[in-house]
Amino acid sequence: MKIAVLPGDGIGTEIVAEAVKVLSVLDLSFELEEAKVGGAAYEAHGHPLPESTLKLAQQADAVLFGAVGDWKYDNLERALRPEQAILGLRKHLELFANFRPAICYEQLTHASSLKPELVAGLDILIIRELTGDIYFGQPRGRRSAPDGVFAGQPEAFDTMRYSRPEIERIAHVAFQAARKRGKKVTSVDKANVLETFQFWKDVVTEVHAEYPDVELEHMYVDNAAMQLVKAPKRFDVLFTGNMFGDILSDEAAMLTGSIGMLPSASLNARGQGLYEPSHGSAPDIAGKGVANPLATILSAAMMLRYSLNQSEAALRIETAVKSVLAQGLRTADIYSDGTTRVGTKEMGDAVVARLKAQS
Ligand code: NAD
Repeated sequence: MKIAVLPGDGIGTEIVAEAVKVLSVLDLSFELEEAKVGGAAYEAHGHPLPESTLKLAQQADAVLFGAVGDWKYDNLERALRPEQAILGLRKHLELFANFRPAICYEQLTHASSLKPELVAGLDILIIRELTGDIYFGQPRGRRSAPDGVFAGQPEAFDTMRYSRPEIERIAHVAFQAARKRGKKVTSVDKANVLETFQFWKDVVTEVHAEYPDVELEHMYVDNAAMQLVKAPKRFDVLFTGNMFGDILSDEAAMLTGSIGMLPSASLNARGQGLYEPSHGSAPDIAGKGVANPLATILSAAMMLRYSLNQSEAALRIETAVKSVLAQGLRTADIYSDGTTRVGTKEMGDAVVARLKAQS
């Protein structure tokens, strides 16, 4: 099992170190190889995704990724900015399926921005298509408006598009994931306004015929945004396109208390995946030793489950995280009165100690 370890920038190096520590006490044999990515790679090699880093990622079974970015790179030309590394990895590894579980741990219900009774026991899985939609559709650009009331005026435009095979492959992923959970898929669209999403709805309905054991409902994105804060537990698998998924998954993140708790996985058709916390490089707290490493540690658990076929080891990590929270240990982002505040390293050490105690 070969894992490419790409810590990146800011808190990326601190949180990935804790996840690696956790992996190393599992009695599994991994080959871990580290490389620079993002701003760190730009400083060392003049590019956020150097050829050597990309090659390592392509040859690995899985990539454990920290985060990239820093405000000091904001004035670089777009192609050299750290964030381009993550887009490049998604593109070159064909990572079209993004999984973001939003789980509200019992001990953190009070950290959520919603009333505890609305989020207690919350366990939803957001599946977002990651390589299509308006984020990648061509043509795009700026021009002089060719028609309309403001014809001749400068305008900008993007193209929203999805092809049948693109929708089919992500729909299969969603239905298969639902089979292993609550057997319900909510497909989110804007079919009442957008041609692309009427097509999405039609294709998803066709694919559903192969999964009679899974319930399918369709929901408009505006209603889905409302339901996520009104009654989030009504969802099992919430499945949508790239842009709606981007927005809804951040909304769901806040239901769970802290973005520091949220893992994610991006998979291709071969089961190869990139695993990373849902947050960024948090330059405001980088180097202070206070970042929450649990999202990255839980991403490592997802990596074991989805790319390395080690579900038992994944469960061991998830159980260890729950028991550390039950012990009352909290990093600053999830701290509340009556709990014990710890730093990044202490949180990682506590998970390691629980894992050792399990065996
Ligand atoms: P961010 O997620 O880095 O931080 C948002 C807020 O959450 C900050 O207050 C931060 O301190 C806090 N936070 C984030 N992770 C935390 C953790 N593990 N523990 C405790 N607190 C945590 O988002 P931002 O500030 O908008 O962006 C910072 C940089 O990260 C930018 O350069 C951005 O482009 C980049 N970014 C990278 C990725 C990625 O690598 N996939 C994703 C999002 C943002």
